[in-house]
Parts: sequence; C-alpha cells; structure tokens
Amino acid sequence: MSGHPAPSAAIPFPRLRPWLLAVPVLLLVAYLVLMDNGAVSQAGTFLHELMHDGRHLLGVPCH
Ligand SMILES: [Zn+2]
Repeated sequence: MSGHPAPSAAIPFPRLRPWLLAVPVLLLVAYLVLMDNGAVSQAGTFLHELMHDGRHLLGVPCH
C-alpha cells in the first residue's frame, strides 16, 4: 500500500453497453411493480395479478 488511491480508469463503452440497456428495462419493471398500481398493468388480469404479487413479495404497502 503506497497510501495513494489507485487511479481510476475509464470504463470502455462495450463493457457499459449491457448496463445502458438493462437499467431502463429494470427501472420500468420496478415502476410497474412498485408504483403503477394498475394504471398500465390493468391491461390484462394476468399482468395485473403478477404486478400485485410482486408488490406483496417485495413488501410494498398495497392494501
Ligand atoms: Zn395487495
């Protein structure tokens, strides 16, 4: 240990690309499960129940 922090290297774009694609998808899923409350997922009973079960699974206050 030299006492100096290691210099940070730039992350090459090809290594970032999967995250740049995954993060918006994961945010959309998180929105649908946590905050949608049926506004979008009302489209079908299966989707609505799936989001509802996801809320209960994650312990989000629901009803
Ligand atoms: Zn519920």
